[in-house]
Amino acid sequence: MGQRKKSFKFRKLLMFLWLIALPITFNWMSPVLIIMGGFEGYITISFIVFATWFISSLFFGRAFCAYGCQWGAVQEVLGDTIPKKLDPTKKKKRRKIKYIVFIVWIAFIALGPILNLGYQYGFSPFYPTPEDPTAIISWNEFAIGMLIFYFGIIGSVAILFTIVGGKRSFCNYACPMGVLGVIGTKIKNAFKYPSLHLEVNNEKCTQCKQCSKTCEMGLDVNELVQKGDMYDPDCILCGSCISNCPQDVINYALKWRK
Ligand code: SF4
Ligand code: SF4
Ligand code: SF4
Repeated sequence: MGQRKKSFKFRKLLMFLWLIALPITFNWMSPVLIIMGGFEGYITISFIVFATWFISSLFFGRAFCAYGCQWGAVQEVLGDTIPKKLDPTKKKKRRKIKYIVFIVWIAFIALGPILNLGYQYGFSPFYPTPEDPTAIISWNEFAIGMLIFYFGIIGSVAILFTIVGGKRSFCNYACPMGVLGVIGTKIKNAFKYPSLHLEVNNEKCTQCKQCSKTCEMGLDVNELVQKGDMYDPDCILCGSCISNCPQDVINYALKWRK
């Protein structure tokens, strides 16, 4: 049990560190810069990150959302301070919105290189300042303007979603990047090779529903436990349900899936 609580605290600390690192890393995971770069003929660092993210989901499901995404970190840290509870029964239909956003996002990512007949300038780790890599970190007017612009948008969207929809509601309803992890998870589950997933031994469950109360994605975890199948496309494998279950009913597993 002690180890489970330590893992829980470690992930919370990681989320906080991602939040602090936002000024340095926000271009890495930008769903907008990947499109802008494509239209200007550049492969951006966010392109590489999202491709790596998708490949990782073929083995680790959506764990990147729980451990590596700074947009998730912003929402989670904020959501911990504004603990509005997501209602799992009401939000199932709304969760489908993100698939529409995903299709539009992918179409725009593809459009740039289609119109340009490829990425003619290749990989630019410092896009959108490929000519001046220091522009983002040298605190010139351009960099400061960009930071204010980004934080203004990110902060407003995160606050609005969290207040209206609860913790990680942007993840649940609107995030196109998370769909990459959903697709990867579906592929790994279809082929059933060894990969990270949740396992359950529901004989010990007392139905206290602590797992549902503490799920970062607002899922009805108890329902999954009673079914004996922990798969849900919106599960990000954060492990909160593992750490907060008093009966050790849920566990991570890496073995072959049945
Ligand atoms: S759903 Fe989107 S915002 Fe949320 S953690 Fe995953 S990639 Fe990040
Ligand atoms: S927290 Fe554990 S014991 Fe309680 S309902 Fe969930 S799985 Fe069952
Ligand atoms: S079901 Fe468990 S691992 Fe999945 S998102 Fe909820 S708390 Fe995290």
